[in-house]
Amino acid sequence: LDNKRVALVTGGNRGIGREISRQLALKGYHVLIGCRDAEKGRKTVEELSNDGLNIDLQVVDVNQVESIDQMIQRVKKEHGRLDVLVNNAGIILDRGVSILDVEETIIKETFETNFFGVLRMIHTVVPLMKHMGYGRIVNLSSGLGAFEMMSGQGPYKDHPLVSQIKGSSSAYRISKTMLNALTSLVAHEVAGTNIKVNAVCPGSVQTDMGGSDAPSTVEEGADTAVWLATLSENGPNGGYFRDRQPIAW
Ligand code: NDP
Repeated sequence: LDNKRVALVTGGNRGIGREISRQLALKGYHVLIGCRDAEKGRKTVEELSNDGLNIDLQVVDVNQVESIDQMIQRVKKEHGRLDVLVNNAGIILDRGVSILDVEETIIKETFETNFFGVLRMIHTVVPLMKHMGYGRIVNLSSGLGAFEMMSGQGPYKDHPLVSQIKGSSSAYRISKTMLNALTSLVAHEVAGTNIKVNAVCPGSVQTDMGGSDAPSTVEEGADTAVWLATLSENGPNGGYFRDRQPIAW
């Protein structure tokens, strides 16, 4: 069994999740790359372990209850603990589609991963964290899901991004708004324990999802998530951050 802190990162095989995994391992965590495809996961584990990092594969598809149940049984048996959960796995299916045109099935499919996937992981992992008296949960959200970013009000009044993304990716954006609400509710439930639940916007990051023209590198995109995953006991709970600073919901 493990005496190092153990961290599970969903969708850890590529993009921001892969980099969060690498940075956590560099900080001495035993990192479990959560990956729905064992082959892809093995390849990532092999590449990252070459740098001498303590990284293993945990197959988990956040859309499948049985897959999550099997994951938690393995984690308990092999490690006896789970200190950090990074809910990074996410999808975007409605790029360029307005809320007025988006199909209901696309909204449901997006929510299935970006919202219900996280809810399932939280339902499964929080009991173990409560039992341990320690836990750090980081939800990969997006500034695009902030209410005032949608309405162009408050801090986002006259923000150029508001008009740039108007009429685009509404299923994705609402899924992140729901994720933010989930973050607040769970954080409130665990307040007063040493479990902390926070949401992060990684910025616009060079990944398959963000595209190669995005301004931020994966190293920059992973930074705030890693900071939240490693918070000390007096760190924030129930916050929403970008570049390690609180942002408006
Ligand atoms: P990528 O598209 O590059 O990677 C997504 C990851 O999620 C992949 O590992 C993918 O696995 C995994 N995944 C998708 N569905 C599931 C599932 N059902 N079960 C397990 N894993 C799954 O995304 P990014 O790295 O860019 O984004 C990571 C997170 O950050 C997402 O939540 C995203 O919404 C958020 N974000 C990203 C931004 C950006 O600019 N890149 C901006 C704002 C937020 P597989 O390889 O098998 O498909």
